[in-house]
Parts: sequence; C-alpha cells; structure tokens
Amino acid sequence: MVIKNVNLETVCGITSKLPDHTLPEIAFAGKSNVGKSSLINALMNRKALARTSAKPGKTQTINFYNINEEMYLVDLPGYGYAKVSEQEKAQWGKLIERYLHGSKQLRAVFLLIDIRHDPSANDKMMYDWIVDQGFNPIIIATKLDKLKRSQVQKQVKAIKTGLKLLPGTVVIPFSAETKQGRDEIWNLVDTEFLG
Ligand code: GDP
Repeated sequence: MVIKNVNLETVCGITSKLPDHTLPEIAFAGKSNVGKSSLINALMNRKALARTSAKPGKTQTINFYNINEEMYLVDLPGYGYAKVSEQEKAQWGKLIERYLHGSKQLRAVFLLIDIRHDPSANDKMMYDWIVDQGFNPIIIATKLDKLKRSQVQKQVKAIKTGLKLLPGTVVIPFSAETKQGRDEIWNLVDTEFLG
C-alpha cells in the first residue's frame, strides 16, 4: 500500500451508530500499552495521528482511519487496565462486540501481543472472542526491537502455545522503532483482504 492520504474520519463511542460505509475495514485489537497506536501510525507513515489508548476513566472509542479513500484501519479500544471499573469493562465489551458482530465491511482482525511476554489471560480471552465472532486473527508480536534476536523464535512459539493458535495462524514480529514487519503486514492486507 502506498499511503497517499489518511484521515481520522469517524470516532465511534458506546452510544454512536457504527459507520455505514462501503470500503473494507481491517481492525486492530490488543491490551493497553501493547503498541497499537505506534503500529497504526507506522502503517500510515504518520508520527502521531493515532492517539495512545484511552486511560481509565476516559471515553473508549473505535477510531476509523480512512486510507486513500480505499479502506479503513480500525483502532479498537485497548483492554487490560487493572483500575478500570466493572461498568467501564462492560461498556468496552459491548462496544467491541457490537463492532465485531455488526460490521459488514470488516475483512480481518489483527491481535497485538507484546513479544517479550507470554500472552495474558485477557489476551487469550480476546483471541477466543475474535475467533468466536468468525474471524481468524493474525497475530502481531510487537516491540521486536526490545528482544535479542536469539529469543525471537522462542517467544513466537510461546505466543502460539499461550493463545493455542489455530494451525496456520500467521504471527508477524513488528517493531515501531525499526519498522521491521511493516511491509509484511501491508503485503498481507493488500493480497489477502483487499481487492
Ligand atoms: P497502545 O496503548 O497500545 O496504543 O501503545 P502505544 O503505541 O502508545 O505504545 C505504548 C508504549 O510502548 C509507548 O511508550 C511506545 O513508545 C512504546 N512502543 C510501542 N511500540 C514500540 C516498539 O515497537 N518498540 C519500542 N521499543 N517501544 C514501543
């Protein structure tokens, strides 16, 4: 994908209607701080358009970035803040479920996991939930630059085992610092999910 223009077109909160457009959507999920904003900014060649995830108490939103009037990158709200209230958790769940269940344009879901850590119970729940909604998520192992090269395969394996990934699931190591993995992600999107 050659990025010509990007635009944060729709911000969807708990009470908003989901956008009713006709372009394909690619969504990104992951726990707070996993590097989701950094990944989305890297994919868009922007330094800081995607914001850091909402902190506890802030409004949780789904953000739709229009790419070249061709497709949308969809930034789902992060999970896993210890201090979030039960009410906020419930709202987060409803918002995501409504989107995963209701979007007619959603072509693929990417789930981000920090390559340094084994997946958490929340990560596993999120993975299973995405699968239950009929998608086979692609895993992005973030913060690749923070790991010694000799550790990468071992951690990719830990992610596969920890999430009990379905056979054939793609895992792409990525670094927002070096941009390693960026082209692979766009190639996959271009060849498998667009057109
Ligand atoms: P989000 O909450 O998932 O949107 O995470 P952010 O993109 O805001 O990143 C959380 C923190 O991790 C920030 O301090 C980022 O600078 C840092 N970070 C994100 N991606 C990378 C990466 O690939 N490498 C390194 N070294 N740091 C990263």
